[in-house]
Amino acid sequence: MGGGGVGKSALTVRYMHQIFVQSYDPTIEDSYRRNMTVDGITVSLEVLDTAGTEQFMSLSNLYMRSGDGFLLVFSLTSMESISELHTIREQIQRVKEATAPPGKSQRVPLVLVGNKLDLLSERQVGREVAVNLSKSWGGVPYYETSARKEINVNEIFEDVVRQMIKADHAT
Ligand code: GDP
Ligand code: MG
Repeated sequence: MGGGGVGKSALTVRYMHQIFVQSYDPTIEDSYRRNMTVDGITVSLEVLDTAGTEQFMSLSNLYMRSGDGFLLVFSLTSMESISELHTIREQIQRVKEATAPPGKSQRVPLVLVGNKLDLLSERQVGREVAVNLSKSWGGVPYYETSARKEINVNEIFEDVVRQMIKADHAT
């Protein structure tokens, strides 16, 4: 999840098909499935690439309820895009708390992703800003990625899945 144009589709397609898409229709919402193995455990991963519908609260509530883990993506070239993640993360917490079994406040598998690392000269968001945000969220893992240069793309999916497997074993 994340604002428009931050690279959600580019990261998803890079991970799923090992290619970089320069212009992916921002209105297309698609789900992808692939098997992956982390720490010797093979899972079937389904990824929903959300598309500009975040403002329609009811729809995004639905995604949040059905999602087991979330990549919260911003662009390192846009200060505004990292600010947008506050509301999205609050909304996820709210939805998950509302649907958690009573007395059980589970930790939601999250990864904070600063994308477009390759656009060095356009960078607006410093590493400390993002690290501080991830700390304020209780130590959510933070990665800087490039869908274009294929930096840390596998790592973000593996990290969130590792957290999902852990959460699953805890219940
Ligand atoms: P979405 O709206 O979050 O799905 O964003 P898109 O994946 O459609 O990407 C928006 C624009 O940013 C497109 O022109 C992409 O080619 C470009 N983009 C995405 N990721 C990267 C990246 O890592 N580096 C660079 N340079 N451009 C990127
Ligand atoms: Mg998109």
